[in-house]
Amino acid sequence: MAISKLVITIDGPAGAGKTTVSRTLAERLGYRYVDTGALYRAVAYAAKHQGVRADDDAALEALCCGLDLKFVSTKSGQRLLSGEVDITDLIRTPEITMLASAVSARPAVRAYLLNVQRDMGRQKGVVFEGRDMGTVVFPDAEMKFFLDANIEVRAHRRYLQQQAVASQKPEEVENQMRRRDQNDSTRDLAPLRPAADAVVIDSTDLSAEEVIECMLTHIYAGDVPGG
Ligand code: C5P
Repeated sequence: MAISKLVITIDGPAGAGKTTVSRTLAERLGYRYVDTGALYRAVAYAAKHQGVRADDDAALEALCCGLDLKFVSTKSGQRLLSGEVDITDLIRTPEITMLASAVSARPAVRAYLLNVQRDMGRQKGVVFEGRDMGTVVFPDAEMKFFLDANIEVRAHRRYLQQQAVASQKPEEVENQMRRRDQNDSTRDLAPLRPAADAVVIDSTDLSAEEVIECMLTHIYAGDVPGG
């Protein structure tokens, strides 16, 4: 069944399955997919390389002004470029993960990325994955989801994903995730929480395919916020 082009937001904590589900959902609908966490990671990566501290708002603002971030589609999937440099894989280390959580609490960084993200949503037909997509960036999105799962399941999923890029022990992954959950949900600006009109899905006992089926049912049923 054809549906008109929507903005779909998928928020939730790390390891809830947002990336797999968002990417596949976008493919099935013929939509673009935007991983907004990668943008926060890109800022963290630039801060590290320019020696900017995560609590130096003036320096972060200047750093953001000089950034040029863009997603490009390639044969090997979507890549994130910072200027001409492909940073897709470089931003996945545990160090950049924690730094992204720290810089994401800073007003200059959120203000900069708010504009970048809204620009990306101007043309509809997009699935946005993040923490505040349905609450702050796209409060008028036509379809909002909040994907959650219990911490043990999320940490285990992240441990399995991380094995290719980092040699962290399972308990380190879980501790880091708990700290990140705490940072992301207690910060003053755009804290992680479901939008009042989001469909909340607990993926603890669901496969990615079951989550996608559930989302498609809501989308085709036109369960739009306020609708
Ligand atoms: O989704 P991902 O784990 O890649 O996000 C990295 C960090 O970026 C998160 O822990 C969070 O602090 C921040 N983030 C955010 N708002 C978003 C997306 C990510 O604050 N919309």
